[in-house]
Amino acid sequence: MLNIVLFGPPGAGKGTQAARLVEKYNLVHLSTGDIFRANIKGETELGKLAKQYIDKGELVPDEVTIGMLESEVEKTDHAKGFIFDGFPRTTFQAEALDKFLDDKRTEITIMVALDVDDDELVKRILLRAKDSGRADDADESIIRNRIEVYNRHTAVVADYYAEKNKFKKIDGLGSINEISERLYNAIGA
Ligand code: AMP
Repeated sequence: MLNIVLFGPPGAGKGTQAARLVEKYNLVHLSTGDIFRANIKGETELGKLAKQYIDKGELVPDEVTIGMLESEVEKTDHAKGFIFDGFPRTTFQAEALDKFLDDKRTEITIMVALDVDDDELVKRILLRAKDSGRADDADESIIRNRIEVYNRHTAVVADYYAEKNKFKKIDGLGSINEISERLYNAIGA
């Protein structure tokens, strides 16, 4: 299996690039943010719970997020591999994912990070807000909080994969095509 963690701060372009990687490598895309938003739209209990955190730009608790992600993987038969987008966001989530994949006799192949500076992220997210309809995209103080949460809790997850020699960072500035090419080169499969 080819299991990719697509990593980077909010607004780095993970969703856009994940769609391309899905096409190129024939993988299943799992975005925890998208799954939460589908649950919010469907007014499920999980959605109601997640909304309280997402609206503030905080992380949904690990147990909830991990349980949800694992059940999505379980639902998928005969996948050639997965693109994890927006997960793991804490070292605890990364450890849980490793254990879970190990039980399934597979593992993370590589984490690739998109590197984009904070001011560019804020600009991109505010632009995206015009189409995304996401409340957490429309308010600059919430965006800044999401970036701060990323720097405080999520950025360290890169070290977790770097220690296992599974981490690569690429420049996230440029055209969508240029960034895709960099990703294909980094993944190299
Ligand atoms: P995203 O679409 O990846 O930017 O995620 C939107 C929001 O969903 C985040 O700001 C968090 O509140 C929540 N979320 C998504 N993925 C996770 C995760 N792995 N752990 C905790 N919260 C998450």
